[in-house]
This record gives sequence, structure tokens and C-alpha cells, in this order.
Amino acid sequence: MRPVLRIGASALIVIAVVLPARADASPANVAALQAALKSMHLYRGFVDGVKGPLTRRGVNAFQRRRGLSVDGIAGPRTRRALGWRGRPPLGSRVMRFGNRGWDVAALQFLLQRAGHGPGRADGLFGPLTKGAVRRAQSAAGIGVDGLAGPATIRSLRSGTESTSQPVNYPSGPVRFLRPVPGPIGDGFGAARAGGRTHDGLDFPVPYGTRVGAAGRGTTIYAAYNYGGYGNLVVIQHRLGYTTWYAHLSSITSWVGEQVSGGTRIGYVGSTGYSTGPHLHFEVRRYDTPIDPIPQLLSTAATFLRSAGRQRSRECGPAKRGMRKPPRGSDWIARERLCG
Ligand SMILES: [Zn+2]
Repeated sequence: MRPVLRIGASALIVIAVVLPARADASPANVAALQAALKSMHLYRGFVDGVKGPLTRRGVNAFQRRRGLSVDGIAGPRTRRALGWRGRPPLGSRVMRFGNRGWDVAALQFLLQRAGHGPGRADGLFGPLTKGAVRRAQSAAGIGVDGLAGPATIRSLRSGTESTSQPVNYPSGPVRFLRPVPGPIGDGFGAARAGGRTHDGLDFPVPYGTRVGAAGRGTTIYAAYNYGGYGNLVVIQHRLGYTTWYAHLSSITSWVGEQVSGGTRIGYVGSTGYSTGPHLHFEVRRYDTPIDPIPQLLSTAATFLRSAGRQRSRECGPAKRGMRKPPRGSDWIARERLCG
């Protein structure tokens, strides 16, 4: 009996040693680390789950600040020093509304990657996270209760929405509708001032043209951007894709709104760094801009009407039926179309 028991015990020790090490390297755990560092302004990159030089530099800075040995690795000591942002590990509890911690940030990253929102990984399980969990559960065909337990985490970690056929979510390759009708002007990779290249496609369409969501997803940004995009809407789709709609004259979507292809999100304008009315449209995969053309359908999400007719239509009776953002959302609309 004794030798058998000893083998069992040592096998357990091996598992206990191996598992945390493996878990630390997973994208969800890297994302939780990035979120913790970001909250302390020690990481300026995206919460993308990829451990690159910026993440390592952030860990180093944190370790230096706390007098820990500086090795760029978020080991148990570093995690402990992160306080509530460093614990508990993903999968150690059923996460629910009101929880906070490392596992919540990791969950938020997994939800985001699968295209369910919630828009940010801040480690706080609030209403947007709860909504995202419910969407993920519905898509995976598991019980929809808004509680993130093992089954929910497993379905998110598998990289796809579920092992069975998604109930309520499109599958197959990601394709996008054109956000506005009409020809494409400057393409992806076109030369820009300062040796930079163009990160998206430009649609030279009239001021006030209605802009439709390029596909199903959740709005994760709907506000003015001071980096040059002007009034900007960003929609999170599944499989790590986001679509960006810039220089809008006004925004009609809000953070947390669930959109489908063609849902009105705003109107073409020239806000931010823009030389004239046009829509700058970007597609990103895990926050890296990619050429949208291979994924762009020839169908447009909206119809082209004359700008005049559209103005009167939107400013007239349609205005009464305008969707209202929920209270507390960061919805804004500068340069309102209807004065
Ligand atoms: Zn552009």
C-alpha cells in the first residue's frame, strides 16, 4: 500500500507544480496581467493576451516599484503584490455580478475575444460583463444564468463559441458588409504623412450619409477620440475582430449596444484629423489593423439616398423613434445632424 500512496502523492505534486505554470502563459492570464498593469499605468498596450516586450516592461516596472526581484515574470510573489487584481486564479470560483479580480479580467478577455463584449477588461464584474456572459452562454447553448462557472469558461477557452452548433450566433468565416454604399477611395496601406501607412479604407461619401454596422456585434467604443479618429464607433465581433468607423458627424450607438449588420451607428462627417467628409473604416484582428477587402462583401449595410432627403427624413418623424441610449452610457453626439 505505502509505495502506491507515495506515487500518488508525488503525482499530485507534479500536477500542482505544472498547472499554474501552464496557466500563466495562457492568453487569458496574460490579459489579466495586462489589465492589472494598465490600471496602474504601467502598461500602455492593448489587453490582447499576447505577452510581448511592453507587458514584460510593465512587470519589470511593477517589480522594481515593489522591491521584488525583477525578472519580468508574474510569479506567485508578483501576483500577491498585485492585491485583488492578482487573485483569484481563473476557474477557482463561479464568478458573478459584483465580483472583482484576476479571474474576472481573464473572463472579460475571453468574452471579448469571442465577440460578446463587454468592452473592457477592468477586473470588475459589472452589468456589461453580466450581459456578455449571458450572450456567450446563449451562443454556446448552455444554461443562461449570467454566472461564469467551469462550463462557460470552457466554452470560451475552446476558442469557438461552442462544440455544438451555436444556437443564436453565426458561424463560419467572418465577413463584413460595406458600412456605406459607394466606391472606395484610399485603400489599406496607402502612404500617409510622416512615413505612416493607412490603416483602413476610406469611403468618400457625402456628409450625413447613414453608417451601418458591418456585422453583428457589440459596440465597445462610442465617443470622441482625440487621436485623430474624431467621433468614433468601434464594434466587437466574434473571433477577435473589431470594426472602426471614424470621423463621424454624429454617433447614434452606445457602449454595450448589440448591433447587427445595417444597424445605424452614426452619420458620415469630418471630425478629427480629416480633410473632408468621408468614412474611415478599419478592421482589426486582436487590435492589429488588417486589410478589410478580403472580408468585405459587395453588399452595403445601408442604402444611398441623396443627402438632402436623408437629412429631412432623419430630422423629421424618424427622430421621434430614435433609439435612446441607456442611462449612464458614454453616448455622445457632437455636431448633431439636426441642429
Ligand atoms: Zn482613412
